[in-house]
Amino acid sequence: MKLNPPNLNNPRIFQSLGRIDAKSLESCDQLLLILPEKPVASLFKQLPEGTKLHRVLRATADDSTPALRTRLSNKKVTLVVGGKLKNESSTFEQLTLGRELVAALADEKAGSVGIGVLGFAPDAQASIVNNILAAALAAAFALPTYKTKPPPPSIKSLRILGVPARVDTRRTEAEAMGNNLARWLTSMPPNKLDAYQYADLARHLARARGWSYKRFATKELTKLGAGAFLAVAQGNENDSASIVRLKYRPGRKTARADLSLVGKGIIFDTGGTNLKPFSSMLDMHGDMQGSAVAIGILLAISELQLPIAVDCWLALTENRTGPMAYKSRDVVTAANGKTIQTIHTDAEGRMALADTLVLASREKPKLLIDFATLTGTCISAVTNRYSGVFTNRAALHPRLKRTGQQCGERVWPFPIGDEFLEELKCHSADLRQCSPSASGDHILAASFLAEFIENDTPWVHMDLSASDRDEGLAHIPSKFTGFGVRYTMSVILDDNLFKATI
Ligand SMILES: [Zn+2]
Repeated sequence: MKLNPPNLNNPRIFQSLGRIDAKSLESCDQLLLILPEKPVASLFKQLPEGTKLHRVLRATADDSTPALRTRLSNKKVTLVVGGKLKNESSTFEQLTLGRELVAALADEKAGSVGIGVLGFAPDAQASIVNNILAAALAAAFALPTYKTKPPPPSIKSLRILGVPARVDTRRTEAEAMGNNLARWLTSMPPNKLDAYQYADLARHLARARGWSYKRFATKELTKLGAGAFLAVAQGNENDSASIVRLKYRPGRKTARADLSLVGKGIIFDTGGTNLKPFSSMLDMHGDMQGSAVAIGILLAISELQLPIAVDCWLALTENRTGPMAYKSRDVVTAANGKTIQTIHTDAEGRMALADTLVLASREKPKLLIDFATLTGTCISAVTNRYSGVFTNRAALHPRLKRTGQQCGERVWPFPIGDEFLEELKCHSADLRQCSPSASGDHILAASFLAEFIENDTPWVHMDLSASDRDEGLAHIPSKFTGFGVRYTMSVILDDNLFKATI
């Protein structure tokens, strides 16, 4: 059955310049009001019914969120939900406040939501506005539902209030589209989004967006010698697995990629022959989130028409049990000729990625980043608040970390390298897939992947430990977070790795 892509249009965003007055609030059903930690009394003089708002704020306990909740006596009976931010608040804190304030509107009828940020310097005001907006756009997006009566939309439109000049929201909107697509794909039931339909959806998006599309089916992958990917794919009931390559080339059709994105797309991970128990398998339709993040980043880049050439590779397969499924101690040959002895069939992500990384790095991109929900040990190491990063350019560690602090999707670097390959030494093949002991598996997995990077391509691997969190994370209210879209856009635009600006 053909699958239609989601509606990725953000709600309309209006801006009312100048003071927040009664007139600009006339069209707001709700107002998200962001104030400094210790707002001066004169600030409330700038607001309609300011005395009342100040009184309610003072009567609310200091540490509660929202810090203020009351209704105005205007025609709309506008609900005001307020929050406070420290002067030196981090992006993560701003995004988190945004999520919490938007959540406080949950019982309200969907309407026009105002965003008012008061009492901050102009630059800080503009970035707080964007971060609260990011939370509103994440909450407004409808994730897949198969209810016969779908829930109504949560936000109809947004209105930025009280700003002296128009705030540039293009980046926030594009990042929201990319993240929303990533979360939508990840949330799809695994019988509704199989490997065929996923590839077809990518083709559909490629056509709509002017990207080139190529699907390497198992026959072509056999010719390419992609034995590691095919070891996982051979257990599929039908021949649906493939590696999909998308190319975004603004203007320069033949240019080599500035950035190559690779994503793990395990449609459903049963663990394979070494079957997972129920609780570990329950949410394994989310094991394709790395690929969803990669395509989400491509969408955000393309939406902003950034002048960089980008490749995007999606490694799409299931990891199933069955008579054909691969098993422990099988030996396979990857596309770069290296032989791998399999140890644990649940370490399928690194098998599927190995060949995809060979194909991606052969094209000599200036930077290669892969995204994968790869290891449990990464979650043990940094919890699901951070994702782990690994690179074959250790000098990048401080920069990678700083980018995470800047954008609010925080990462922590880990070491990799030859030293760790001792744990992957093997008598009958060049290396083994993982260590049976599983200690430090995130580091071993990344060290394994590094063996499949050709041409010494600068490479960053992101183990998405922050991809799945019941209570959401930063601005994202849903369990699947789409972590990585915002981070990578920050690599491009804040770290300015490719001199791209919008
Ligand atoms: Zn697995």
